[in-house]
Amino acid sequence: MQPTSEQQKIDINYYGLNFDMDIATTSMEKQFLIRFLVLDTTLETIELDYSTNNLGVGEITVNAVTIDGATVSFTHSNDMLSILAPDNLVVGQQITIEIFSDCGPAGNHDDQGFNWDYEFGQRAIWTNSQPYDARDWWPSVDFPRDKPDSMDIVVTISDFMTVASNGRLISEIDNGDGTKTWHWHVGHPIATYLVSLSIYDFYVWGDEYIDANNDTLPIMFYTYSHPDTPNPSYMTTNYRLLPEMITLYAGQFGPYPFMDEKYGHAEWGESYGMEHQTLTSMGDPTERRVAHELCHMWYGDMITCHSYHHIWLNEGFARYAEALWWEHRYGSIVYHEKMEEAKRLDRQTGTIYVEDTETDNIFDWWLSYNKGSWVLHMLRHIVGDETFFEILQAYANDPELKYATATTEQFQMVCEEVSGLDLNNFFQQWIYGPSYPQYQNYRAQTGENLLVQVTQSGITFDMPVDFRITTTASVIDTVLRINEGFMTFNFQIPPGEIVTNLVMDPDNWILKTSEYVVGLTEKGLDKPEIFSLGANFPNPFNPLTTIPYNLDEQSSVSLSIVDIQGREVIQLLNVSQASGRYQVTWNGQDRDGNPVEAGVYLCRLETETRTAISKLLLVR
Ligand SMILES: [Zn+2]
Repeated sequence: MQPTSEQQKIDINYYGLNFDMDIATTSMEKQFLIRFLVLDTTLETIELDYSTNNLGVGEITVNAVTIDGATVSFTHSNDMLSILAPDNLVVGQQITIEIFSDCGPAGNHDDQGFNWDYEFGQRAIWTNSQPYDARDWWPSVDFPRDKPDSMDIVVTISDFMTVASNGRLISEIDNGDGTKTWHWHVGHPIATYLVSLSIYDFYVWGDEYIDANNDTLPIMFYTYSHPDTPNPSYMTTNYRLLPEMITLYAGQFGPYPFMDEKYGHAEWGESYGMEHQTLTSMGDPTERRVAHELCHMWYGDMITCHSYHHIWLNEGFARYAEALWWEHRYGSIVYHEKMEEAKRLDRQTGTIYVEDTETDNIFDWWLSYNKGSWVLHMLRHIVGDETFFEILQAYANDPELKYATATTEQFQMVCEEVSGLDLNNFFQQWIYGPSYPQYQNYRAQTGENLLVQVTQSGITFDMPVDFRITTTASVIDTVLRINEGFMTFNFQIPPGEIVTNLVMDPDNWILKTSEYVVGLTEKGLDKPEIFSLGANFPNPFNPLTTIPYNLDEQSSVSLSIVDIQGREVIQLLNVSQASGRYQVTWNGQDRDGNPVEAGVYLCRLETETRTAISKLLLVR
């Protein structure tokens, strides 16, 4: 979805929302004050997204509209309020609109937009506006890219209710008629989908975070029940982690962006969390969810994705910040376990750049959140820890992006500036390209030379890849740039050592599949003309020996070691292989990993149609 061409001719800089709510009738009188700058003098119609009828609030009526105090004509249909723009506009001119509206009685709530709900048998009101549902309860240019600089949110409602919203509480006035008026002020730019109300006879409690300058941030909790009798029971424990979490993220991303306001949670009718600016709407407060929504204050709220195409800049970051929290609290093993949990390749073949149409599409858990988090995990390894955290800080503090919006290209630019690396292939293949690398590794040792072949099936990625070669006496770590579908590399192996293992990406920094074959691909060598099983070397041996064989056609291959009574000791191979020259190493152990006794063994190589046998002598 895109703002209309008329919406792109204005830049909203202020919304004032004023609601007079009647709980008995589930209806509202609403008054809105909107200020915007004229960007283009061809503006004819001021177009504001505003639903005409919505289950959550009932029928919506616009009674009058004024511009700079004078009544103007308007139409309200198809979820759009269209207001005749004044003549003789000047670029940069500021215009003030007032809108008088009402709605109700409400129908059944549908979870999106504005909800008249019940929680624990009591009236609960809450809003949920991502991606495009702010329009269900107030008129706006309802797209992430047009953030006002500030807002006021004023609600008058029965005096036993507590109104929780974004920003700072300016006043709470008892009107003496059974109602109270609550005034919240938002002093920083805010995307329309991040504006929220959560209203209930709340239990209000709190905590605080003290920053490096000794400034205090109030942490406010608006909960349906007393924290000592919480439901669920671990609410208090996880809520209490917030000061430590803010300390961590302030260290990693930069100062908490809304120090002059607050942070907190307000309960709502959903089980999940939603990062409403300075006041997350919180369902089931799991530890990872508390961390995730907090991270959004930097990535999502302070820097908002320019459009939902780039939602990974919100959700991939917040999902990744969960892993940073686990790493901080439990160490790097748990960090890697959490990244492994974010891997599910059968659901991660799509692009991270998403179509901006369906909600399910935008908020794809395995792509926008998890594959997005892997992009940061991979970037971290490519640029190194120090540079990676410099990037996160530079991005959060970029004067063009801070309190504004960002695209993937803008994030890429920050990454390239800080790291000095050309990361275009990286972002193109991982954000705009589908799938993930699918590697096959082949190896063959000849004396002191190890020949390694790497092939990629499917899409060819360009990535620096760690390799770990293990021999009978040493471990060799190296990094290879793999950027073609078929590549060969030679390694010098210390004299007398035999390669026992080759692992690509041993610490799991790449979202990928990898397979291993001891032997070489058909592409790497001449195609053998005969099927054969060669003499093992060395022979006699203790305990390692290498067994070469050739396949002249694609075959399913089984290679087993058998004792002289004909009992299978271990099966070393059971795969389908292309024609080629291969070798396999046996370490003198049986299938349970126990060393076998010295003596004569047979190696049996079998394909669908042929069998070959050779004799091996193990000495101890
Ligand atoms: Zn999120």
